[in-house]
Amino acid sequence: MTDGPAPLPFAMPDVGEDEIDAVVAAIRSGWLSSGPRVSEFESAFSAFLGEGLHAVALNSATAGLHLALEACGVGPGDEVLVPTWTFTATAEVVRYLGAEPVLVDVDPVSLNIDFDDAARRITERTRAVMPVHLAGLPIPHKLLSDFASSHRLDIVEDAAHAFPAAVDDLRVGAGETRATVFSFYATKTITTGEGGMVVTRDADLAARVRVMRLHGISRNAFDRYRSTTPSWAYDVVAPGYKYNLGDPAAAMGLVQLSRAEEMRSRREQIALRYDEAFADVPLDRPFIPGSDVQHAWHLYIVRTGRDHNRDTVIGDLAAQGIGTSVHFIPLHIHPYWRDRGRFDQSEFPVASAQYRRVISLPIYSAMSDADVDRVIGAVRGALRA
Ligand SMILES: *Cc1c(COP(=O)(O)O)cnc(C)c1O
Repeated sequence: MTDGPAPLPFAMPDVGEDEIDAVVAAIRSGWLSSGPRVSEFESAFSAFLGEGLHAVALNSATAGLHLALEACGVGPGDEVLVPTWTFTATAEVVRYLGAEPVLVDVDPVSLNIDFDDAARRITERTRAVMPVHLAGLPIPHKLLSDFASSHRLDIVEDAAHAFPAAVDDLRVGAGETRATVFSFYATKTITTGEGGMVVTRDADLAARVRVMRLHGISRNAFDRYRSTTPSWAYDVVAPGYKYNLGDPAAAMGLVQLSRAEEMRSRREQIALRYDEAFADVPLDRPFIPGSDVQHAWHLYIVRTGRDHNRDTVIGDLAAQGIGTSVHFIPLHIHPYWRDRGRFDQSEFPVASAQYRRVISLPIYSAMSDADVDRVIGAVRGALRA
């Protein structure tokens, strides 16, 4: 080891004293499982996104994607369209329900689902589609609703990267799809350590997710505590799951939510700084949308050109103490999905080609200006710009 600055991690949560105080207060309150702070977090989260929305907190986005699809009635024999360019969670929940994910290629610019390719893969078994707002770049609401209505499919949005994001002042989560699912995993744009949220305009869908997140019990502990009927009484109406969020996590979420805009604007600042600094570097930079679009900037994905090998550049950056990642290894390349899918590797030309080029650079609000400059210097060095 040589002396030098400590390595810069690829991702770090931006959690401060306010979050710590809120978690401590939650612990002191005695509500360690789902209690008043979970209810408060749900109300504040839905109010942040828009009007007429129901929000249901869960212990992960994976749980949320699972229960949203379950509430849509997806089951054995059904097919669900999933972009190959995503984390495996998006597809695995389809298998939880005995249905089959049908992988779809992506758009070469946004790396979001290619709706023309999706339309070609529709069969009489197709029930739903799960678009991913990759890196936090929102798919326009109209594209989603047009696709849903012309093909009569349910849409469950994977918005794990897209909080907060908006198109024409309408936030991701506030549109007309069946449900939108957010992640509060440690590296996501706001965090509760582990956590997720299902948001929907459909009161029945929200009610089903609420029941299924806690053993299929029709009233949870906090409802029972608040209620005037005997506190021991409850009904089991389904074989549900154990997917509820606890109050200490929700307490952290409430503080993070209040800082979400401030943290997003810092990430946007970093993205714009990178964009400027890499203008003369032999790299393809991510698409920057116009002012009608609010990008969550969860990820900043660059692509190497013909003269550079992606893996060599990642190694060079690592040697300079810069953590990076790759988002994503397309699902059609992973052994389980490759062996299970009824597809040929050549069916995903865009994802297969772009996968070899992508590098995710650090972009998080806890980065200092000096950290950002360090990344810029290291990238320029690695590419001899
Ligand atoms: C992180 C992530 C998930 C899963 O989120 P968890 O809260 O960890 O379950 C799902 N989809 C995408 C695209 C993600 O990046």
